[in-house]
Amino acid sequence: MAPARAPAREVAVTHPERVVYAASGLTKADVADYYRAVSRWLLPEVSRRPLSLLRCPDGAGAECFFQKHLGRGLGPHVHEVPLKQKSGVEDYLYIEDLAGLLELVQMNTLELHPWGATVDDPEHPDQLVFDLDPGEGVGWRDVKLGARQIRAELRHFGLESFVRLSGGKGLHVVAPLRPRAGWDAAREFADQLAHRLAERHPDRYVATMSKDKRDGVIFIDWLRNARGATSVCSWSLRAREHAAVAMPLRWEELSRITTPQAFPLPRALQRAARLKVHPWGDWHTLKQVLPER
Ligand code: ATP
Ligand code: MN
Ligand code: MN
Repeated sequence: MAPARAPAREVAVTHPERVVYAASGLTKADVADYYRAVSRWLLPEVSRRPLSLLRCPDGAGAECFFQKHLGRGLGPHVHEVPLKQKSGVEDYLYIEDLAGLLELVQMNTLELHPWGATVDDPEHPDQLVFDLDPGEGVGWRDVKLGARQIRAELRHFGLESFVRLSGGKGLHVVAPLRPRAGWDAAREFADQLAHRLAERHPDRYVATMSKDKRDGVIFIDWLRNARGATSVCSWSLRAREHAAVAMPLRWEELSRITTPQAFPLPRALQRAARLKVHPWGDWHTLKQVLPER
C-alpha cells in the first residue's frame, strides 16, 4: 500500500543530515527513509487512530516529549479528532497516509503510540494489548514464557493473539477484536486475566502498578486497555540508543530471538523488504469478540 504517493514526495524533510541516533550515526534522513520504506506495514497500524507522538528535536539521546494534541505546525496531512475526556472535549491528532507520517517525521517524531481504537469508532477497542514489563533480574526466557502464557490464557477464551518485541525491555501480546464491546469491558477482561495469572504464579508475575514489588517478576501491564491509553505500534522506532524497532513476530520466531532489541533500524529495514505477508497474517480480519460475562 502506498497511498498519497504524489503529496508524500512533497513533504520536505529539513536538516536531513542531523544525527538522531548518535551511537549508530543514523540521521533524520535515515529516519525518514526508514518510515517511508516500512510504511506499507506501518500505516495500517496507525491510520485513523488517535495518536501520541514521542518527539525528540535534539535526537534520541536528548530530551523527548509526548504529544497527543494537534498543536500548530505539524502539517496539512496531520488531522484532528475531538474526543470526550473527563476535562471536556480534547482535540487528538491522527494521520491516514504516508504524507501524514512524513510530516510527523519532519517534526522529529521518533515513536508512534496509537490508541487501540479508531477515530471512526473511538468507544469500541479493536485490540487488547498485554504489555509485559520485566522487573530487575528477570531473564529474557521468562519474558518469552510470559508471552506464551498470556497467549494460552487468551486462547482459553477463544481469542487468538500475536507477539511483538517492544524494542525496549519487554514484549507485547496483542489480541485483535471486532469493535463491539466498550472500554470498560475490555479493561475489566484484561484486568482479570492479568490478576488471575499473577495469583497462579506469584513468583513470576504481578498485576499491580506499584513499582516496589516488581523485582524479579514481570508486571503484566493490562492498563494499556483503558480508554485513552496507548501502546507503541508495530514498526515504530524507539527513542533509545540502538534505534531498535517495535517488531511484530510470528510466534514460531520468538524462540530464536535473544533480545527485545533484536531489530535495530537497518535490520528492520531488511526484514521489511523481504516480508511477503505481515508476520501476524490476517490478524485484522479475525472475527473475535470478548467472551460474554
Ligand atoms: P518496554 O518494553 O521497555 O516496557 P514499552 O513501550 O512497553 O517498552 P512501557 O513503559 O511499558 O514501554 O509503556 C507502555 C506504553 O505506555 C508505551 O508504549 C506508551 O504508549 C505508553 N506510555 C508510557 N509512558 C507514557 C507517557 N509518559 N506518556 C504517554 N504514554 C506513555
Ligand atoms: Mn512495556
Ligand atoms: Mn508498561
